Amino acid sequence: MTDTGDLSLFDEHKPRDERSQAERLDELRAECLQCTACGLADTRQNVVFGEGNPESPLMIVGEGPGQNEDATGRPFVGRAGVLLDEALAACKIGRHHIFIGNVVKCRACIRENGRVRNRPPAPQEIAACTPWLEKQIAIMKPLVILCLGAPAAKFIIKKDFKMTRERGIFYPTRYARHAIAALHPAYILRQMGSTNDGGKSLLIADIEAARLKVVETKKELKQAPV
Ligand code: URA
Repeated sequence: MTDTGDLSLFDEHKPRDERSQAERLDELRAECLQCTACGLADTRQNVVFGEGNPESPLMIVGEGPGQNEDATGRPFVGRAGVLLDEALAACKIGRHHIFIGNVVKCRACIRENGRVRNRPPAPQEIAACTPWLEKQIAIMKPLVILCLGAPAAKFIIKKDFKMTRERGIFYPTRYARHAIAALHPAYILRQMGSTNDGGKSLLIADIEAARLKVVETKKELKQAPV
């Protein structure tokens, strides 16, 4: 057989890992948008896959989309998202610096008295959905994961995570070298009063701690690469 020298023929056989994180994440997104693994697929308007910088060393994980996220397909775009953006900005972090995802990718909601309101995702919905998060993390390999709220911390850090006692502490995890949990912005909004920031300063402190942990870990890796 003559050698045509057409190396492009081999491109299709490139080992999967040679593709960029953005390409691999895009492929995963396309699969995830078709997901029907649980009943949330029946009521969703959009799958909220997550967005941001696929190469970021810092990944933020929330609980799941609410009404605004469901309507737009984008994470944290409602009031909680505005608060999160303010807290990130206080640490000089923009959305383009990080990747934001959720434990569940579709809105969990309940119809009551003719109104549709958010509800926490059920354990079987979390179990059906978390393989997507695990695949996202496997592609991105973040150095630090910041969990917003207890459901994310219970999945990423440990099942019996207690937000009141354990927020703001770094844990080694199987998903990232370091994970830390912070109060969920929606919880902070509910606590806020005229003389009370509802915990916003704690959220800012935890985001800043996560940012500094990224800087510190990058330095360590430079000195002693694995
Ligand atoms: N709350 C979350 O946990 N995630 C979102 O994307 C929006 C609100």
